[in-house]
Amino acid sequence: MIPLVDLRAQYRAIQREIDQAISAVLHGGQFVLGPEVAALETEVAAYCGTRYAVAVASGTDALSLSLRAFGVGPGDEVVTTALSFFATAEAIVAVGATPVFADIEAVAYNLDPGQLESKVTSKTKAVIPVHLYGHPCAVDRILPLATRCGLRVIEDCAQAIGATLYGKRVGSFGDVGCLSFYPTKNLGAFGDGGMVLTNDGDVAERIRWLRNHGSREKYVHELLGTNSRLDELQAAILRVKLRHLEAWNAARRAHAQRYAARFRERGLDMITVPRELPGCRHAYHLFSVRLPHRDRVQQELAKRQVSSQVCYPRILPAQPALRPWCVGVGPFPVAEAVTRDVLSLPVYPELTPDLIDEVVAAIADAQQGGGA
Ligand SMILES: *Cc1c(COP(=O)(O)O)cnc(C)c1O
Repeated sequence: MIPLVDLRAQYRAIQREIDQAISAVLHGGQFVLGPEVAALETEVAAYCGTRYAVAVASGTDALSLSLRAFGVGPGDEVVTTALSFFATAEAIVAVGATPVFADIEAVAYNLDPGQLESKVTSKTKAVIPVHLYGHPCAVDRILPLATRCGLRVIEDCAQAIGATLYGKRVGSFGDVGCLSFYPTKNLGAFGDGGMVLTNDGDVAERIRWLRNHGSREKYVHELLGTNSRLDELQAAILRVKLRHLEAWNAARRAHAQRYAARFRERGLDMITVPRELPGCRHAYHLFSVRLPHRDRVQQELAKRQVSSQVCYPRILPAQPALRPWCVGVGPFPVAEAVTRDVLSLPVYPELTPDLIDEVVAAIADAQQGGGA
C-alpha cells in the first residue's frame, strides 16, 4: 500500500541524529521546559521570522491560549474559515467565544477576504485565517481590515510551516501564528506539540504564564492557566528535524510538480491540481486535488493499494458538535463544493518519483472506471 505519509521512512533517514538527541535528553535528566525547549523556541522563531516563539503542548492549545492571551471569551465572536480541521473552531468554543464562519475562495480554498467584512460585528474580537493544506491564505488582505476593525489576527499555520507569502514566512504576519507539531505535519514530533509565534513580547510572556499554570514565580499563580508544556524529548527531536525542513518542503514541492506534469501528460484535465496564487509558496502539507466521482475514485484507488484521504468531508458549520453555533448560518457554496470533490493524495518528503507515477497510473485507471 502506498501510504499518505511514511513516518518510518523519515525516521530511518535521520535515525542517527535522532537517537543521539534522544539519548542526550535522557542523560541530561531534565524533561519538561528545559534547554532543548528554549533552543527550539529560538530556532523556530528565527526560521519563521518572528521575535518570539513559545512552545506549548499542541496546535490546538496554541490557538486557544492565543485567544485567552488576547482576552477573548464569552460574548465575543471570532471569525474563521468554513473549511479547516476541526481544531480551528474547537479552540474558539473552548474559550467560550462564538465561532462565525466565512466561505473560502476557490483557488487555494482559504478564507475569502471579500467575505470577511460582512461577518464582522461589534462583538468580533479576532479572526483566525488558516493556511489550509500548506498554501498561504491572503493574510496580507485580511490585515488592513483587521486593523481597521480592531481585530486580532491569529494565523493557523498548523499545516503550513515554511510556506511563504511575498517571501515572508507564514506565522509572521498576524498578531500570532500557531504551529502544530503533530507527527504527520511538515515538522512533526514523536507525539503532540505546538507553538505560538509572535513579535509582541507581552503576548509571548502571557502565553508563557498560561502554559504553566499562570505562574512566573514558582507557586505564585497570577492567572488561571493550564498545563500546556512541551517536553524536552519532543523539543530535541524537533530541533533535529528543523534542520531538514527546508529540504523536505522542497521535496514535497518537487513531488507536487511531478504529479501535475504526469496528469498533464496523460490528459487528465478533469483533475484540478493545487495552484499557487501570486506571491505564494505552498508547503504542500497535503496534495489535494479536485476531481469528478471522488468517492468512486477513492474506492478504486484503495483497491489498487493507493491511500488517499478526504480533507475534509464536511464544512465546519456542518459538524454536529458545532450545531449550537451554526443554526441558520450559511450557505457556504465554495467550501461545500470542495467537500464533495476534494481528495488528498500521498505526499511526503520520502515519496519517490516511481511511487508518484504509480499513483497517477492508478488514478488514470480508476478515472476510466477500469475494473481492478
Ligand atoms: C493539526 C491542526 C490543528 C491542531 O493541531 P494539534 O497539534 O493536532 O492540536 C489545528 N489546525 C489545523 C488547520 C490543523 O491541521
